[in-house]
This record gives sequence, C-alpha cells and structure tokens, in this order.
Amino acid sequence: MKRIFLDVDEPLADFVGAANTFYGVSMPKEEITKWELPYERYGKTHNSFWDGLNEDFWADMPKQPWCDELVDFLESQDDYSVCLLTAPNRDNATGKQRWIRKNLPIYKDHYFIGPTKWHCAGPDSILIDDRGKNCEDFVAAGGRAIVFPAPWNHRRYCTDPIKEVKWLFGLLDSKIKVMEVV
Ligand SMILES: [Mg+2]
Repeated sequence: MKRIFLDVDEPLADFVGAANTFYGVSMPKEEITKWELPYERYGKTHNSFWDGLNEDFWADMPKQPWCDELVDFLESQDDYSVCLLTAPNRDNATGKQRWIRKNLPIYKDHYFIGPTKWHCAGPDSILIDDRGKNCEDFVAAGGRAIVFPAPWNHRRYCTDPIKEVKWLFGLLDSKIKVMEVV
C-alpha cells in the first residue's frame, strides 16, 4: 500500500484567514512571500504571535474552499492510503485533533501530529505540504513530495492549487522515476 501524508495548515485549513480574524488584522495572504510571517504587521513578535494562538484558534480555523475537492481526489486514488500529517504549535495538539474531528471526521483515526514529518518518508510515501523545507527534508529521507502552492513557496504563481496538485500527483504516480516535482 502506498501512502499519502497530507498537511493540514494551508492545504486544508485557512491558517492565515484564521490568524487575521483572531488578531483583528487585515493581512492579505498574497503579501506573505516567505515562510516566516510578518509578525510586526500583527503587532507581535515571533514568540508572542505563536504563544497567543490558543487551543480554540487551532480548532476553529475555517476549511479551505478547496478542502473537500482535494480530499475527494486523493481518496479516489485506489492504490493509496491517506493520512493527515500536521505539526503542533506549542502545546496545542488538542486543537488540531478537534479541527480534524469537526471538519474531516473520516480522518479522526488517521492522523499524526508531530514536528518532524520526514520520519514518515519512504519510497512509497508522498508528502503534500505548503512548506518547501518539509518537502525537501521528506525527499532527502527517501520519500517523494508535492509543494502545495502558496504565496510563501515557489508555486506562488499558481492560480488553481488543486488543478496543480492533481497534475503533479499524476507525474509522481506515473512510471517516470521522479522523486520530487519542482
Ligand atoms: Mg502547512
């Protein structure tokens, strides 16, 4: 059985939208062009930003408009088993568990919460994640990866992230020996 490990924040949950609402800031996602957020625009430091996000924040993030389409597409791949793989913020893993149960109950028993995603890498494992570093580490550990399009990674100019992921998945799943689609 081949495995898909699917990140939550950005591919499935609208973290930036939730953070804007939580901190009362109008920060266009398109202006976040690198991995570290512009904390000063939230009136925060790195630590005060992340420390301020409580369990309810992580549990109440809205679903992305494409969330169900992405899940349906991946679940329709007969040779693959899908599992969520998400990093916790501080000690708020419980918020992530609540989000999964509320928004994607089909995964309530199919998820891992941990900061080092590359431990799940293997020749039959594909990581889908918006953080380029996570994908690089996953590939370096022997897996394959798709960088989910977002303004803070090299796929920032994709206008239709799901169309792009479907195309990239087709490449990885083909007979061509591709370890990473860049
Ligand atoms: Mg993410």
